[in-house]
Amino acid sequence: MTDTDTVGPVRIDLGPCTCATPDVHTNDWVEIFRHAPYQMGLAALESIAQSSTPIELGVALRQVYVVWGVNNWNLIDDKGKSINVTRETIALQLMADWSDRTVAVIEACARQFNDEVMLPLQTAASKQLNNGQIEALTSQNRASRREQAKHSRPSSPTSSAAGNTSVAQGG
Ligand SMILES: [Zn+2]
Repeated sequence: MTDTDTVGPVRIDLGPCTCATPDVHTNDWVEIFRHAPYQMGLAALESIAQSSTPIELGVALRQVYVVWGVNNWNLIDDKGKSINVTRETIALQLMADWSDRTVAVIEACARQFNDEVMLPLQTAASKQLNNGQIEALTSQNRASRREQAKHSRPSSPTSSAAGNTSVAQGG
């Protein structure tokens, strides 16, 4: 599952095919977005608002990352037809049970999206609260972002996954 590309979706190998029609392909795969889509950010905001414990939030966010993160797959139905990727089919195909496949997708999505989704929220939160402690925690991050801003056009949403500070301590 090495991924050295810098553009395009990220492919996750799910192992031997378990589709309803066998022998069409040997392995199943899922592709996730390389960068967090807008809706994922919104859904994450909502999860933060509605979760009352870190565990609850962790569960909610992982769900969000998979539901909004899966972009494509090669899964086929019992007639050998490609299954459209929708939030409903994602739930049916990838969240119906707890398996190696499920975990592979969840972990890949968390790796891909957690920092990218959390960083802007953290920056916003620290501005709102104007809390010295949070300021201190994130100042290093913000300094490096300012540094980046000097070198890149301000309009380009650079996906700086730099810095490991995150609101939700995901795995
Ligand atoms: Zn298959």
